[in-house]
Amino acid sequence: MGMAYAIVGYPGVGRNETALRAAGFIAGDADPETAYTKDVPVFRPGPATGLETKAYDLPDGTVIKTPNGVAFCGPRYINHGPFIDTPSFRCPCCGARTKRDDGRAAAQMEQCFELFSTYFEGDDPSRCVTCLICEARIDVNDLIDDGPPTFVLSDVAVEFWEWPPDTVARAAQVLDAAMGQDHRMGWVKV
Ligand SMILES: [Zn+2]
Repeated sequence: MGMAYAIVGYPGVGRNETALRAAGFIAGDADPETAYTKDVPVFRPGPATGLETKAYDLPDGTVIKTPNGVAFCGPRYINHGPFIDTPSFRCPCCGARTKRDDGRAAAQMEQCFELFSTYFEGDDPSRCVTCLICEARIDVNDLIDDGPPTFVLSDVAVEFWEWPPDTVARAAQVLDAAMGQDHRMGWVKV
């Protein structure tokens, strides 16, 4: 469909929408029609973004809105973005790299998928996988080698649908201050 959203993730903290609202990055009541996501709070962009949600009435009565909402996801979230293609892995412990055409990358990826299936179980789920080279237990977020710091599993994730990157960056600064930690970012094309 040619649409994209940015995600900023915060492993290990609780959800917080107050800061974004106070800084004018979201506004109004929840509007789930502004993002293609389910069962999470979604809000329209606020005045600090310069973005406006438009509504289009179709002849059959359907209303289509600009997909520019902000979705507050969590308390557990998987960013599948790095796995859309077979990812490269870099172990922060032993430094080993496994690339896309390396069979070990496929085996490492399989281990990540096993973790995904158990991540939603239990009160304090592990985010760790075992490095196939040195056998160290590594947070999966630190294992993915996908250029700039990204994340795979997160307690809190905020999706920004079709926002310009510089506007996401400004909102992420506000979130970083509120969350007390630097975000990790991912992008997903849908
Ligand atoms: Zn290792």
